[in-house]
Amino acid sequence: MSKKILVPIDISESELTQQVIPHVEGYAKQDDATIHFLAVIPDYTYFAAYGLGYASIAPDAKEREAAAMESLSKIVAKFNLPEDRIEKHVLSGSPKDHILQLADDIDADVIILASHRPSMSTYLLGSNAAAVVRHAKCSVLVVR
Ligand code: ADP
Repeated sequence: MSKKILVPIDISESELTQQVIPHVEGYAKQDDATIHFLAVIPDYTYFAAYGLGYASIAPDAKEREAAAMESLSKIVAKFNLPEDRIEKHVLSGSPKDHILQLADDIDADVIILASHRPSMSTYLLGSNAAAVVRHAKCSVLVVR
């Protein structure tokens, strides 16, 4: 069976994507790998605790997901990959939880992600990257 690569993308950080592009292209070339791109819209459900109520933000969810899919598609277009081996996913919620869940669901062979935002250079690993490295059942390539 061909390999499956999961590439989580923070659509608000274009510089992070630049770092991972050559690595993803390199892995994809090794065999007939399928590349799954995932953008997670952080879900601010905790606003409910401050009395805003979840219902007030829920109606926009579909619109936000459509906009995120558009941004993700533009980012994915920067990768030199065969169209028919690309899958795109947009989910709302916790980035690290969705990355780990999707890795299980698709039975990913490897997750490729950038270590952290350039502006956060004092940290060795961002919080999502750290959780993925710690909890993933498959290999994880952290690009620095
Ligand atoms: P930082 O806290 O510096 O942003 P993160 O750990 O959040 O560091 O980001 C590292 C990597 O985690 C990103 O390059 C990306 O692969 C993944 N990631 C972070 N946020 C998201 C998100 N909202 N959706 C998908 N992937 C994400």
